[in-house]
Amino acid sequence: MEIDSIISDTRKELKDVFEHYEEIALFNQQKVLDAFKKNNVALRHFNGTTGYGYDDIGRDTLDKVFASVFNTEAAIVSPYFTTGTHTISTALYGLLRPNDTLLSVCGMPYDTLEQVISGKNIGSLADFGVKFVKTDLTSDGKFDFDKIKSNLKSPHSVVFIQRSRGYNWRDAFSIEELRQVIEFIKSLTDAPIIVDNCYGEFTDKLEPTDVGADLVMGSLIKNPGGGIAPTGGYIAGKKDLIEKISYRMTAPGVGREVGSYEGGYRLFYQGLFLAPHVTLQALKSALTFAAAFSKLGYDTLPKKSIGCGDIICSVRFDTADELISFVQSVQQCSPIDSFVTPYPWDMPGYSHKVIMAAGTFVQGASIELSADSPIKSPYIAYIQGGLTYEHALIALRQCLCGLCRGDSGRL
Ligand SMILES: *Cc1c(COP(=O)(O)O)cnc(C)c1O
Repeated sequence: MEIDSIISDTRKELKDVFEHYEEIALFNQQKVLDAFKKNNVALRHFNGTTGYGYDDIGRDTLDKVFASVFNTEAAIVSPYFTTGTHTISTALYGLLRPNDTLLSVCGMPYDTLEQVISGKNIGSLADFGVKFVKTDLTSDGKFDFDKIKSNLKSPHSVVFIQRSRGYNWRDAFSIEELRQVIEFIKSLTDAPIIVDNCYGEFTDKLEPTDVGADLVMGSLIKNPGGGIAPTGGYIAGKKDLIEKISYRMTAPGVGREVGSYEGGYRLFYQGLFLAPHVTLQALKSALTFAAAFSKLGYDTLPKKSIGCGDIICSVRFDTADELISFVQSVQQCSPIDSFVTPYPWDMPGYSHKVIMAAGTFVQGASIELSADSPIKSPYIAYIQGGLTYEHALIALRQCLCGLCRGDSGRL
């Protein structure tokens, strides 16, 4: 097969799917614009403050804009959330107390949360006497309603759901799947349901908080930062939950009254404004990678192109070498550090060596075109992001050329 015809056939086949996601982006653009208008965002909200940051109107308004977008009572949006992991762990520490139980209904949460939950003598939740119980997914990666029901009969304080696939061979949960499981859980418990929304924002018209979740959390160097937020995370949800979390984020009694950021807030506002469109670029990129690689006989995800709840494409390679060369091809096509060759390495928070292509403007931003993979069998590459669809097409071509030179025998 000829590489250019693989790519052009793939694009033709995806035309209707792209239209579906363009409609979602349009809907979300309106939603974000409405949130800006409702909160009377003005140039003065971009100004930074210093010291305690009392009455920092840029910070307070940004919180309100996110709360409007996620249809919640309150939100915390902050450059002081250093990563998604930090954001989610702040929420967990804010909500859980000694002897409480965290119940995950989707198996083990994201790899970097493992140490947060069960690390030894590092101030993990376990160190503070917070218990953890998980309900595994079914073998085809779906919620196991019977097991969830039986686990909900035991004590539990917070119910946790991860929307995206993480490093698992499953599709992300669609909003409809989330709606079903959330309604089911709500019929059995009053415990708050919190959702790790990383990579899921703006992939559908509704967010988990529109279908009953009490709280969502995510990273600003993924979808909702629109590719230009320089760092940070957000948590949006019920007022009482957000207040508890605010006491953990800064200090008990102080909460969200403080927090200055001299750099100012324009990039956070502007990033959110761009986010629906940039997420569309990333979705089109992931779908094109998945379809093109599946044409070559690779096993890929997402399997169904409508209703995918994250921006990731997973490709299962035959060997570690093939996977590594794929990730290296992505790096070669990056605007930044194109001359660097990534190798598998020990990364903080991960238990296996990880290889990452992240030739990004914002360090590690995975809303920008990037690929990463723990080096363990089966050899799965996770590719995500793309500030422009055109960039993803260029990278896809390079990756296919790379395979052509290798000995995969598929081209
Ligand atoms: C990215 C991500 C996180 C947090 O990751 P960081 O690298 O700490 O920002 C958590 N959960 C999921 C599902 C993610 O995709």
